[in-house]
Amino acid sequence: MKKQYLLAPGPTPVPPEVLLAMSRPIIHHRSPDFIPVIQDVRKDLKWLFQTEQEVITVAGSGTAGMEASISNFMSPGDKILAVNGGKFGERWAKIATAFGVTTIEIKVNWGESVNVSEIKAHLDKDPSIRGVYVQASETSTGVAHDVKSIAEITKTRENTILVVDAITALGVTNLPMDLWGIDILITGSQKALMLPPGLACIGVSEKAWKHQSQAKCSRFYLDLKREKDNLLKDTNAWTPAVTLWIGLATSLKMMREEGLENVFARHSKLARATREGVKGFGLEVFAKNAPSDAVTAVLAPEGFDGEALYKNLRKQYGITAAGGQDQLKGKVFRLSHMGYSDTFDIITAISGVEMALYR
Ligand code: PLP
Repeated sequence: MKKQYLLAPGPTPVPPEVLLAMSRPIIHHRSPDFIPVIQDVRKDLKWLFQTEQEVITVAGSGTAGMEASISNFMSPGDKILAVNGGKFGERWAKIATAFGVTTIEIKVNWGESVNVSEIKAHLDKDPSIRGVYVQASETSTGVAHDVKSIAEITKTRENTILVVDAITALGVTNLPMDLWGIDILITGSQKALMLPPGLACIGVSEKAWKHQSQAKCSRFYLDLKREKDNLLKDTNAWTPAVTLWIGLATSLKMMREEGLENVFARHSKLARATREGVKGFGLEVFAKNAPSDAVTAVLAPEGFDGEALYKNLRKQYGITAAGGQDQLKGKVFRLSHMGYSDTFDIITAISGVEMALYR
């Protein structure tokens, strides 16, 4: 027998309470049985996103949320500014191109966070830019971009919305949507929401809805306005992923019981423990200045292949971390401290790394 420990940055472990709730017999989504689930999810997502606006949940992975953030708010020929500092930052331009939207990219060295004054310079030079697209936590590098400062730049510009991929940041770190002026805030179920993969949740500001009313990109299934109109009547446009919604209602309830400040404090503590733990035996954290509280990318030491190290962790100790992606393949391994994670998960992970390296 070998016990398994899941410390990859998604899917993350699912609490037993959520698994149990999802094992209930299926219910019909147009019956009165589902209405309390919709009502709880609507209320608690607003709480988590720190917004008065409706948060839209679609069946799909996080990328569905990213795609919807372009197709619902842009028209072909529009220009967006995208921060590209890793595997997920790269994705904005790929999606935009598919919808005939032009991307101006700010390329950021992997491991660094974006220089916010570059965003301001671009918007000052070209006020026709319709959206700034950025990751709050770039999972491939373990970097957190400074969303608060970026929002200060976009907040007063009616023509430009701020779109934040918080797929590995929401429920990890403070991102008060309304207070900061974030226009679109996206997360995915398999991260800090402590659920299996399959849902994307998208918060949309009033300003973004104004953009939506003029946006002409093609959309059908991922038409957020259609789903919003249904949610306001406590129903859904399409058959929702009923079981995942029941899981979501349960995990949101658990987060509410813990309290938002405590959820953030727990993630911050576990992230610091991970960084200090690996530094303790001489390893370097890849993100020097702005590390994410969701995931830590650790540079493999001289003479060690990061990929082999990650495979060894899994084979010998049952610890599933993650390797590096693209240019970081073999150079880093990544440990998650996101979602249903506590002190003992981190102690296990750090001890596992130490044993894999030095035993
Ligand atoms: N953005 C970020 C920051 C991510 O971490 C991920 C997935 O890991 C995605 C986007 C894509 O999400 P998905 O794989 O669920 O489509």
